[in-house]
Amino acid sequence: MTESNQPPSSTKGYVYIAGAGPGDPELLTLKADRALREADVILYDDLVSPDLVEQYGAEKIYTGKRKDSHHFEQEEINQEIVRHALKGKTVVRLKGGDPFIFGRGGEEIDTLRRYGIDYEIIPGITAAHGASAYTEIPLTMRKVSSSVAFCTGHPVSKIQVPDTDTIVYYMVASSVHDVLDAVAAKGRSGQTKVAVVQNATRYNQKTFTGTLDEFRQREKAVYSPALLIIGDNISQFIENNWYSRKKKVLMTGGDARRYPGTDYIVVHLPCRKVAGADLDTVKACIEGIDDFSMLFFHNRFSVKYFFKYLFEHGKDVRHLAHMSICTSGRAAATELLDYGVIPDCCLESDASAGLAGMLSKEGLEHQHILMPGSGNVDESIVAEFRDAGNLVTPLGVYVHGSQEKGDAIDLEFIDEIYFASPDCVRKFRELYDSIPSRIVITPTDYPTAEEFLSQFGSTDS
Ligand code: SAH
Repeated sequence: MTESNQPPSSTKGYVYIAGAGPGDPELLTLKADRALREADVILYDDLVSPDLVEQYGAEKIYTGKRKDSHHFEQEEINQEIVRHALKGKTVVRLKGGDPFIFGRGGEEIDTLRRYGIDYEIIPGITAAHGASAYTEIPLTMRKVSSSVAFCTGHPVSKIQVPDTDTIVYYMVASSVHDVLDAVAAKGRSGQTKVAVVQNATRYNQKTFTGTLDEFRQREKAVYSPALLIIGDNISQFIENNWYSRKKKVLMTGGDARRYPGTDYIVVHLPCRKVAGADLDTVKACIEGIDDFSMLFFHNRFSVKYFFKYLFEHGKDVRHLAHMSICTSGRAAATELLDYGVIPDCCLESDASAGLAGMLSKEGLEHQHILMPGSGNVDESIVAEFRDAGNLVTPLGVYVHGSQEKGDAIDLEFIDEIYFASPDCVRKFRELYDSIPSRIVITPTDYPTAEEFLSQFGSTDS
């Protein structure tokens, strides 16, 4: 897009680049909370807990790398932010920790500047600060540490060892030993204290401590997200710190106030049915595919899932031969090539013409459009196409950030489970085959207790 064809700024939306903090949802700032309430669209990544974004009414788009989910490249995220903002939407780009600490916030801002889109930046609590507070490792300490540096352990070729008393390394999951070797090579004593903090501020926070020598000898796996902290400010009390002393209760619903924050960490596992595609509608649309004159895809993910269902219903590209096939953006067009389809047109985000306007420029008017996408339909695109005289059928073929078995809460860290209804017991059973016997089970009432017994027999696995 060139400067000259930019729409007037009044038609553009507004973008907040906001930090979500390191994990504990209560570490979100009031300002980020306000922005999230105002938002029409929230784009969030891996390090942001889905639990946190769940509370807001906006359309939610997961841009992380979860298995079997659409994997966005940074350039695609930039374009996705722009696409929504150019439609006049308020967009929150929500990032783990702080956007400007290893957060690629700078690249997103470059794109917004290029498009003349207004934005602001809301800082977040970075992982180092979260880990420091929740493990009782002061990053500076009188007489022990008077300087601290934040470094990255990735890529290995760029590991730096600054001359500060405390060093916090981010992104060490695959490079922890390279970092430790680099620190030792810089002349730090083998007795220097070292801590690894996994999942800082989350219910499953885990801390390992030792000396530099011990860590270099021990082959300790580090699971992401993890930080490596180096320095003699690492306190001896961290094994029994304030955070680890609290009981962790998994609630499937109900009122969290029954577990006071002074004694408990409440982990939520909402017991709603995890929505997927509406399979009946998918079937009806694919069986009636001859009635449509156009297929419109606005991201790669919609292509992937549409074809999955098309094949499952025993059809292939030959059944689409009568249709025009269009995309907005190159990513969807590239994905289509994998299925042997060259789209008739690939529209680039440009609010001045509007997608429908661009379609008519291509000579495509009065179409009956089948628009596969997320279960959370983008009403503004639908309205735009309809207003231009097309008939539009949105079709949910995937959901953003749906909960999968692999995402389930790790019961290893849980002390108590509260079941809010018999239904919650049944939903829980879909995710877990057994429950460790040490976990206290608290059913809300008698029918829930009965359901628990019938689903799990006893609490002993
Ligand atoms: N912008 C983020 C950092 C993103 S880089 C921030 O300010 O925190 C990703 C790295 O952050 C991870 O590899 C890990 O090193 C660190 N990280 C993020 N959240 C973390 C957490 N809850 N516990 C430990 N490390 C975390």
